[in-house]
Amino acid sequence: MIDLSLTQMAQGLASGDFSSTELTQAFLDRIQQHNSQLNAFISVTPEQALKEAAVADEIISQKQANPLTGIPLAHKDIFCTLGVKTSCGSKILDNFTAPYSATVVDKLAAAGMVSLGKTNLDEFAMGSSNESSFYGAVKNPWDTQAVPGGSSGGSAAALAARLTPAATGTDTGGSIRQPAAFCGITGIKPTYGRVSRWGIIAYASSLDQAGPMARSAEDCALLLKAMAGFDPRDSTSLQRCVPDYPSLLKEPLQGLKLGLPKEYFGDDLNPEMAERLQTAIQELEKLGAQIKEVSLPLTRLAIPAYYVIAPAEASSNLSRFDGVRYGYRCEDPKDLEDLYKRSRSEGFGAEVKRRILIGTYALSEGFYDAYYRKAQQLRRMITEDFQKAFNEVDLLLAPTTPTPAFDLGSKNNDPVQMYLEDIYTLGVNLAGLPAMSVPAGQVGRRPIGMQLIGNHFDEGRLLNVAHQFQQVTDHHLQAPRLD
Ligand code: GLN
Repeated sequence: MIDLSLTQMAQGLASGDFSSTELTQAFLDRIQQHNSQLNAFISVTPEQALKEAAVADEIISQKQANPLTGIPLAHKDIFCTLGVKTSCGSKILDNFTAPYSATVVDKLAAAGMVSLGKTNLDEFAMGSSNESSFYGAVKNPWDTQAVPGGSSGGSAAALAARLTPAATGTDTGGSIRQPAAFCGITGIKPTYGRVSRWGIIAYASSLDQAGPMARSAEDCALLLKAMAGFDPRDSTSLQRCVPDYPSLLKEPLQGLKLGLPKEYFGDDLNPEMAERLQTAIQELEKLGAQIKEVSLPLTRLAIPAYYVIAPAEASSNLSRFDGVRYGYRCEDPKDLEDLYKRSRSEGFGAEVKRRILIGTYALSEGFYDAYYRKAQQLRRMITEDFQKAFNEVDLLLAPTTPTPAFDLGSKNNDPVQMYLEDIYTLGVNLAGLPAMSVPAGQVGRRPIGMQLIGNHFDEGRLLNVAHQFQQVTDHHLQAPRLD
């Protein structure tokens, strides 16, 4: 049961092979068995899950089900969930229970999905390894010495380990795609504005975007259809109709123009990964795609631009955690100033503090022009480079990361090394583009990801290409062996 695709689960539920209660219990049992080893979940909500499953079973018995009714999922613990702890991986929100649910959470619940609980993440989604979580690092199910990637590492690890068949993630600079690559699962970061950000704890508001993580492109298509759409409560959400993504999956790839940005295949890229990607490219050529080299000359500058803009926005967003209205408050404050200072010093971890400091510095008078304005100018130029590439080709194909998953503890004392991990993912967020990571093989028993990048609102074509690729390959079907 736990290995089925979402469509197969829906069929099994409809034909009475199993109930949503049984399906939900099977995943709750897996979580019970393996979560202590992987640390993928921060909160598990079995009672609520079984209640939701019972409701789903009723709907299914009345033949009122839609494609996701009764199917379990897990939410990254950055999405507010009514009545359930929402920590964002931080001590400062360790005691916070959300008074409302994010739009995405509501939409997936309205589609009939059953929530199993909340997954671990880097504190405030800042990180590429999941090691900055207040709740401890997540382990990669393929090799527990390795990081699962971040910041949506809990969702990715839970999917790979079959602790959930579907999950939500958010991607500010790669947090859906990079952990998807490291854990051998499929994830899509939609166009900025495609999915509502309402009720998602803000990191960098002009970059944050939520998306589905699952085990195949087909599953992602079903989930994205349910998640996407205009939300009047999010002023940056776009009023554009949501295509029926699942019905676009079968389009043939004949004549598709795929661009390989040469800067993404340079010396940074692990040579064995380059070989695996070459094989993947050949598969796509056999399916009818035409390959063309393109150039994104400013690729290297995405890192400095992002690591000014994201901390600048974070420093502003995180000012709300002041120990006054909700969240952690220090003991016995002397006065208001002491309350602010100590609540924040004790409540935030090292990486979050680093980003607040960088962001405040970059925004301060005298440095604003040198850093923040420059970064914004670069952002515009990087976006223009992508647009030039899309004048020549339909989609871009690239690695998701420069290396397979690295070892736990190997980079977390060196922030610059950690930031360099994001070289292939950040540009997409700066330009607001949709992109996905698709399993493309393994290097030394650690999975690697192929990244597909589309023009704005081209999620349908991304999912289509990924699905066609998954019809002729089986990388996405591989599962790690757990003890
Ligand atoms: N690794 C990047 C960062 O630390 C991206 C994180 C994300 O997408 N949330 O900012």
